[in-house]
Amino acid sequence: MTPSDQKQKFIPYSRQDISEQDIEAVISTLQSDWLTTGPKVSEFERAVAEYVGAQHCVAVSSGTAALHCALYALGVGPGDEVIVPAITFVATANAALYLGARPRFVDLDPDTLLVDPAAIERAIGPKTKAIAAVDLCGHPCEYDLLLAISDRFNLPIVSDASHALGATYRGKRVGSLASLSTFSFHPVKPITTAEGGMIATDSADFANRMRLFRGHGVGSDHRQRAVSGNWEYDMVELGYNFRLSDLQSALGISQLQRCDQMMTKRRELANRYRNLLANLVEVEPLVEREWVESSYHLFIVRILAKKSKRDRDSLYRYLREAGIGSNVHYKPVYMHSYYAKTLGYPQNICPVAEQAYEEILSLPLYSGMREEDIEKIVDTIKQGVTT
Ligand SMILES: *Cc1c(COP(=O)(O)O)cnc(C)c1O
Repeated sequence: MTPSDQKQKFIPYSRQDISEQDIEAVISTLQSDWLTTGPKVSEFERAVAEYVGAQHCVAVSSGTAALHCALYALGVGPGDEVIVPAITFVATANAALYLGARPRFVDLDPDTLLVDPAAIERAIGPKTKAIAAVDLCGHPCEYDLLLAISDRFNLPIVSDASHALGATYRGKRVGSLASLSTFSFHPVKPITTAEGGMIATDSADFANRMRLFRGHGVGSDHRQRAVSGNWEYDMVELGYNFRLSDLQSALGISQLQRCDQMMTKRRELANRYRNLLANLVEVEPLVEREWVESSYHLFIVRILAKKSKRDRDSLYRYLREAGIGSNVHYKPVYMHSYYAKTLGYPQNICPVAEQAYEEILSLPLYSGMREEDIEKIVDTIKQGVTT
């Protein structure tokens, strides 16, 4: 076997899905007048806004920049606290730090590993400025309960929907539920622009503030000045360069057209996992609630150490040797060195998250997988947990 054959045989935990149409869309933009900050950016923003059912979308350079912009729009700053679920990608919490605020970590529902609304309520205090909810795996949070808390305490919800483009909660698309919802277009996410992100909101005021923030705090962009024939610009706030390019937007527009199709495929594969894993007492998938349609960015299972011959780490290595990539999403954020040592965050504060962190494994799931891949993976897991 050549190295490239070996690579082909290895099943990664995730990968992008690029079509001929995607490639042509990028090439034709390369041949156009605009490589960045041109018509494709606004077209992509309108397409995502329509898809998720939001009034406004603002395209940015990454999902992390999207979170940074969303918290900026809410006026988060020094002295404020932002409530963040213990298990998420570090970027959700880091966005609060960028603005001089402190993330405050709360525990999870053990069935879904989504933020526990009761834990949010207990954590709300005089410094709380916003609540970040993370639709882990693409499974929407309990938005009815979160929005009730939001109303009662007059606190905005920012939904980190990096995993959840296309997912629905009680028939409504993620992106139309919270004050602000953020998306990531990293290659493993539901759709990709290589790097990229987007914020969806119904507030024109938030959208304007985020447009300012993504472009150096300058009130007009190059294209608007070209139209108005005026060279002058004024910087009114300290912003960043968080722009998404036309090349990336062209890829995003093309990818978005297949978002439902790719999600349907991932949902079918996830169902196959569930059916095949049903008789394995050692392995327990996270629950999908009846009232949601998860976009299945990830398929997370718990490896129950009391029942299984191998614990999570040992099974991870066993799968790797068998040519199967898996992963862990995520270590509780406050356990990372920067939070624990540099910032001195207390440990052992979220028992559900910490227990889960010992047990969770994300199995391969992406739209280019075949049913046979799922069967092979489950067979290998069966051998791993019983021998
Ligand atoms: C991927 C991801 C981000 C960050 O997105 P980037 O586009 O990589 O910056 C933030 N939050 C969550 C939950 C993510 O999975």
